[in-house]
Amino acid sequence: AVRVGEPRPTPPPPCRMDPFADTLRRLREAFSAGRTRPAEFRAAQLRGLGRFLQEHKQLLQEALAQDLHKSAFESEVSEISITQSEINLALRNLRAWMKDEKVPKNLATQLDSAFIRKEPFGLVLVIAPWNYPVNLTLVPLVGALAAGNCVVLKPSEFSRSTEKVLAEVLPRYLDQSCFAVVLGGPQEMGQLLEHKFDYIFFTGSPRVGRIVMSAAAKHLTPVTLELGGKNPCYVDDDCDPQTVANRLAWFRYFNTGQTCVAPDYVLCSPATQERLLPALQSAITRFYGEDPRSSLNLGRIVSDKHFQRLRGLLGCGRVAIGGQSDESERYIAPTVLVDVEETEPVMQEEIFGPILPIVNVRSLDEAIDFINRREKPLALYAFSNSKQVVKRVLAQTSSGSFCGNDGFMHLTLASLPFGGVGR
Ligand code: NAD
Repeated sequence: AVRVGEPRPTPPPPCRMDPFADTLRRLREAFSAGRTRPAEFRAAQLRGLGRFLQEHKQLLQEALAQDLHKSAFESEVSEISITQSEINLALRNLRAWMKDEKVPKNLATQLDSAFIRKEPFGLVLVIAPWNYPVNLTLVPLVGALAAGNCVVLKPSEFSRSTEKVLAEVLPRYLDQSCFAVVLGGPQEMGQLLEHKFDYIFFTGSPRVGRIVMSAAAKHLTPVTLELGGKNPCYVDDDCDPQTVANRLAWFRYFNTGQTCVAPDYVLCSPATQERLLPALQSAITRFYGEDPRSSLNLGRIVSDKHFQRLRGLLGCGRVAIGGQSDESERYIAPTVLVDVEETEPVMQEEIFGPILPIVNVRSLDEAIDFINRREKPLALYAFSNSKQVVKRVLAQTSSGSFCGNDGFMHLTLASLPFGGVGR
């Protein structure tokens, strides 16, 4: 009570609510206490994650169908089983990975011990995109847990149904003193990134990658940025057009083209284009039927914003196959564009949808020159019956990964590293 005549107490300064502070403090305390360090603890978390996948497989598949109209087959091969394999790999190798690595010594240190010790970073933030919302959220989580970190997981707000399952069900399978799921869009992320993390693993667009890297720089936090870009696919005159078309169509239209390593555009001669077009039409019909819209195997575009962006790209060059769209379902038909100029928007930005432009080049040299004039791609493809041609593309270009005579089959190998080069 304040009596009349007495000075009024000054009100406390307006406090800015920080929704993340308590969670992050809890995780930091658990890490400092050494909770995540023992191998048994890490293995228990990984096994918990595996149980979550197995016990809620159907729920996850339903969520993926709601978010992206993803077929059960695609959900199985590119989301659930791939994450399970990563868990199995980590469980098999955990103790070996944790072991000190003895290193060669010199004369002066013959009596000493010299070794590399692998330490967890501490509090790790994993930020994920929507296109493979189970895989790209949980595979980095597997690495972070196996390495003994406390983890904050941030799924994409665009794959809403999957985000809900990850936020509501997954935490029941993991130690909550060391693990948390946080939700939000750009505004919440701005607040979250003001905090200091010990490592940030980000998968998403170059635009947001810059924001994350700038925020990390304030704390000198190390980051991994798994970004996107335009992946060229060179198709040589010396090829079997139907085999190339089958593989191209499978990898371009898988997940409705919303794949960071999908072939983004084709470089080939006008003569090869003429042979490729009927073969692509035949592959698309074989995979998705006469009316791809009614196919259970073709997904939908994740959001209205992306749908409008992609529909705009359909105006580039000339539609040779497909081109239909329906806003009410965010449907875009598997499409091939020809007569495309390098300066058109479809050749300036990552497409990230079921649209495949063909750009004509007159020779292999011109194709290599075209590729090297642009940003180094995340993935690069070359199709030719001639091993020499495939080897030349590999030798004279630079990319995060390269696959000859196939689509992104190299991703199925855990023995190969994954990532980009340059930006
Ligand atoms: P995005 O960059 O829009 O979003 C990624 C994540 O960042 C989401 O969780 C989002 O909520 C969050 N985010 C959004 N604004 C933010 C901000 N201001 N600060 C911090 N975080 C913010 O990417 P997207 O649309 O979800 O995914 C598509 C992109 O991801 C494409 O460019 C694709 O190539 C790329 N991608 C790359 C890989 C890879 O492994 N290299 C894999 C899949 C997708």
